[in-house]
Amino acid sequence: LFFTLEGPDGSGKSTQIKRLAERLEESGIRYVTTREPGGTPISDRIRSLLLDPNNVEMTAKTEALLYAASRAQHVAEVIRPALEAGIVVICDRYIDASLAYQATGLGLPIRYVRELNEQATDGLWPTRTYLIDVPAEVGIGRVAQSRGTGLDRIEQRDMNYHTRVREQFLQIAGEEPQRFCVLDGTRTIDEVTDSIWADVRQFLIA
Ligand code: C5P
Repeated sequence: LFFTLEGPDGSGKSTQIKRLAERLEESGIRYVTTREPGGTPISDRIRSLLLDPNNVEMTAKTEALLYAASRAQHVAEVIRPALEAGIVVICDRYIDASLAYQATGLGLPIRYVRELNEQATDGLWPTRTYLIDVPAEVGIGRVAQSRGTGLDRIEQRDMNYHTRVREQFLQIAGEEPQRFCVLDGTRTIDEVTDSIWADVRQFLIA
């Protein structure tokens, strides 16, 4: 079982992943949590390149290729081996994030970004994707308030960009209703956790 969490910046994915991990732990289920960009030493180095606010010259294609490269390594080194060993994988962001942030956000053709990522992952898609939806202003507002270190290169983009990203997430989710579970991220943390857990459990007992 391969679960991913997606949503605009500040949607609360990392909090939910921690809580999901606690519940899996209590249920005695073998799992790993991991995140993108990153998840392996090589991918973490690519992450620093991607998020460094000094890299202002980075082109849209370079950005898309770097995300795909980071993902290729992550799938080969962490995700696929875990799945093959029967371990539940929970990943903070995956291909859908590239379809929202790099394709729609930066104006690259969706088909190009999808194809690139199909190649990078040998076509590995999640079993289920939880999209925590929040308006762009709410998400970026939360990040700006809670983060002591300032916004990263992507978060610094204008509200227009973040709004396009959010809309694209909703669009992709609408196109694949069997894979996506969309949650209202403006509800309380507990309410969101309970909804995700209720859904995850169905897969665990199936
Ligand atoms: O999910 P997390 O906040 O750790 O992501 C780090 C940064 O990378 C965020 O600013 C996020 O918007 C950005 N990102 C991106 N494209 C992706 C994945 C993440 O721009 N495909």
